[in-house]
Amino acid sequence: MFARVLHVAPEMAPLVKLGGLGDVVGSLPKALRSADVDARVFLPCYAGLRERLAAMGFPCLPVDGGELHVALNWRVYDGRVWETVVGGVPVYLLDQPELFGDPQVYPRESTLGATLPFAFLSLGALEFARIWKPDIFHVHDWPGGLLPAALAWHRHYRSLQQEYDTVLTIHNMAHQWILAPGALEAWGFARDAFALDRMEFFGSLNVLKGAIVASDAVTTVSPRYSWEIQTSQGGFGLHGVLAEHRGKLSGILNGLDDELWNPEADPLLPAPYSFQDLSGKARCRQLLLERFGVEDDDKPLLVFVGRLVEQKGVDILLASLEAFARMEARTLILGSGHAVFENALRDAASRGGSAACVRVGYDEELAHLLYAGGDILLMPSLFEPCGLSQLIALRYGTIPVVRAVGGLADTVIDADGSPDGNGFVFSDYAPHEFSHATWRALVRRRDAAGWAQIQRRGMTQDYSWHHSAIAYADVYRKLRGMGNM
Ligand code: ADP
Repeated sequence: MFARVLHVAPEMAPLVKLGGLGDVVGSLPKALRSADVDARVFLPCYAGLRERLAAMGFPCLPVDGGELHVALNWRVYDGRVWETVVGGVPVYLLDQPELFGDPQVYPRESTLGATLPFAFLSLGALEFARIWKPDIFHVHDWPGGLLPAALAWHRHYRSLQQEYDTVLTIHNMAHQWILAPGALEAWGFARDAFALDRMEFFGSLNVLKGAIVASDAVTTVSPRYSWEIQTSQGGFGLHGVLAEHRGKLSGILNGLDDELWNPEADPLLPAPYSFQDLSGKARCRQLLLERFGVEDDDKPLLVFVGRLVEQKGVDILLASLEAFARMEARTLILGSGHAVFENALRDAASRGGSAACVRVGYDEELAHLLYAGGDILLMPSLFEPCGLSQLIALRYGTIPVVRAVGGLADTVIDADGSPDGNGFVFSDYAPHEFSHATWRALVRRRDAAGWAQIQRRGMTQDYSWHHSAIAYADVYRKLRGMGNM
């Protein structure tokens, strides 16, 4: 293998997953190992994780000499590292019950105290490198962002800068880890880190900004998103910094774990199906409707799976529900997120009129059933760095209706506009645009043979990690001075 790469991340499917970042960390390292990279993962050992691992059949052993100590907030935190192997990928779990005792992964507020676990994760990974020394640290989003910044500006760790290359992958610009500047001192950073061209951000401290500046390479999760974040609409205040560093920025589309997301062999489906024989989809529809407790009245099923937050376009989804009902379609929604959206959706469903059914919560099995049993996936995102739901839907023969942003624009082609179309696309963030695109999809669905053709086109496209893993391996090769091979 030509490089040793340690992925430092807050989530990894199937161990801990809240969204797409978890899917990526669960599948990219596996694909990288097939592309000649010794990729491993460094993850917090959240409360209950080792017990869950045991129940899932992954034995977890203490790493020899895996005790480490990190100075933070004027005291020393002790940690220990466990090792397990998931899908052939070595995974190191950083255990510190005081810091990772909260089963909720992400802090509820951006304060020095609440975000301390992720400062410990980054500095802990640097300490762990004494035991397993990578060539490259590959960090994901703000929770890993302090690591490249520490190699550049930490009083102690900057002496190690020449020993490692660093890659930052931005999964979502909306979250940046902004704190009062006093945090720098508490973490042991030198004062010069607080400069306009380093971590300073309108008088505060911005860890993601520091990570962008300090990393040797920055990637985002789709080509389109890599330029959207250089605009004032997409950059969340960091568009200027990203534009300035665009020479080391690239957009690499996320792939799907095609073993996990495979309608031909999905253990969570009542019947498997393939692009040659779609008949199993009808059984999935039946079970899906049973799960939602509704009779099958032959209506087309519009499905939504995702976090109920502004990013996902929940407000235009809400505003379109009655229009969908008038189109004689049924909408099935699974998600959790902001209470305002959860309540508004519940209210809309209970009002009747909308023909919508809503399940609030996180439910892996129901998500698989929705992708398999639905006809059309709704994804009207306000912004979408890559999006995995549309890729899963395409693989499951469920046609996506998406807004043309980020990775959605890179992966979905309008079937009314192109013979290669695999879905339906709209541009303006407006309910009437969204419902019009959905209506176009419903009209096309009346032609069963034509619809099956669109389904098969999506199901036979390659969304696996294969190409993207090669692209990441090329980023590593360049950093190692090996050029593209
Ligand atoms: P994001 O990372 O912004 O949440 P993505 O589309 O990239 O969005 O990935 C979301 C992933 O999380 C998909 O695998 C999706 O199926 C899953 N997911 C989201 N919400 C739920 C939920 N309530 N129940 C089950 N799976 C969910």
